[in-house]
Amino acid sequence: MKLIHADIVYSEDRTHLAVHPDSYIAVEEGIVKGVWTEIPEEYRNVPLTDYGNAVLIPAFSDLHVHAPQYLNRGLEMDLLLADWLDKCTFPLEAKYADPEFAKLVYDAFVDDMIANGTMHACVYGTIHTEATSYLIERMDRRGIKGFVGKVNMDRNAPDDLLEDPEGSVRRTEELLEKYSGNRNTRPILTPRFAPTCTRELINDLGRLGRKYSVGMQTHLVESIWEAEQARILFPECTCDTEIYERAGLMDNGPVIGGHFIFPSEEDIHIMQKYDSYAVQCPDATVSVIAGIMQTGALLDRGMKIGLGSDISAGHHIGVYTQAARAVQLSKLKQFYEPEGNRKITFPEAFWMATKQSGPLFGGTGSLEPGSVFDALVIDGLSDAARQLTPEQTVERFCYIGTKENIKVRYMNGETIE
Ligand SMILES: [Zn+2]
Repeated sequence: MKLIHADIVYSEDRTHLAVHPDSYIAVEEGIVKGVWTEIPEEYRNVPLTDYGNAVLIPAFSDLHVHAPQYLNRGLEMDLLLADWLDKCTFPLEAKYADPEFAKLVYDAFVDDMIANGTMHACVYGTIHTEATSYLIERMDRRGIKGFVGKVNMDRNAPDDLLEDPEGSVRRTEELLEKYSGNRNTRPILTPRFAPTCTRELINDLGRLGRKYSVGMQTHLVESIWEAEQARILFPECTCDTEIYERAGLMDNGPVIGGHFIFPSEEDIHIMQKYDSYAVQCPDATVSVIAGIMQTGALLDRGMKIGLGSDISAGHHIGVYTQAARAVQLSKLKQFYEPEGNRKITFPEAFWMATKQSGPLFGGTGSLEPGSVFDALVIDGLSDAARQLTPEQTVERFCYIGTKENIKVRYMNGETIE
């Protein structure tokens, strides 16, 4: 049992932040018991940690990130998707055939995620089994709640990244057998996207999904090029999302569709039918995709939308930066395409980065009673001439904060480095 004093901020619902200045939060066995302005009588003897007027917020969730691309963050950002994959991304991913290389990168990647306040994540590996196993084990050991996918590809990629469908499925099943019972980080099916997968491969993954009750992550209608490729390569489907629905991949567990920038009505309908998550990755879509999600309009239709760093199409591993960028991009979307689009508010963006995806990770993303206490203490953002309010501190952190502003990190109620 522990008691913490701070200014406490979390998402109450999609449009409102709950703000508790100068308040106390009690945590028992890693779960929030309550938030009060005075210490309740029954907690008078519980040890108190006092963070003064630093701000306590929930830890962040990254719903779309490529661990192997960590080395490329902030590089080759003047390319567009198809060239970026060929010249920059696929050559790097091929190097993960070497497990020693993979360990070096994945250790740094996991440490940097945690340093930047991300404690829950949906992560892409590569096609390589050994490297992906190491990533799952590393994340699980460090306590990151989430999913890791061994990527499946059997066409339209360089030879050293292509698998035969049978081998691809067999190796995926090995990981499901070995790690589905993990406490924190488990495997998820990860057909990279329609252009690099055959119907045979996607159907076989559907069978694995049903057998192991496991969900799927992929890239969905992420660019006009990708959406067109999907229609050309799968002419029997009316939209990108239908490719996965037909294979029975949509209802075995959570489905997380990266980007979702150019959805048809049918794409939206299928995603909502299965209560799936779309992921906005603002930096990535500015840099290599050149499209802006209809975030406000999709939220108004009740779509579940989380945020992703999308390293390395996105360049910053801190999901808090993407909350700020999501607000900025929604304004551009409204300005250039006012019909049906609206800007989103900062509370909406913060909600997308935290509470919205809480159910995916077992009750994270909030500081309400019953939430898992994965939390950050942020400070050092006020000016000498003016003390920021708690909610201003959170907003400024997302715009100009760095990991140096995260003074303390709690995972399951315990501090971690
Ligand atoms: Zn991606």
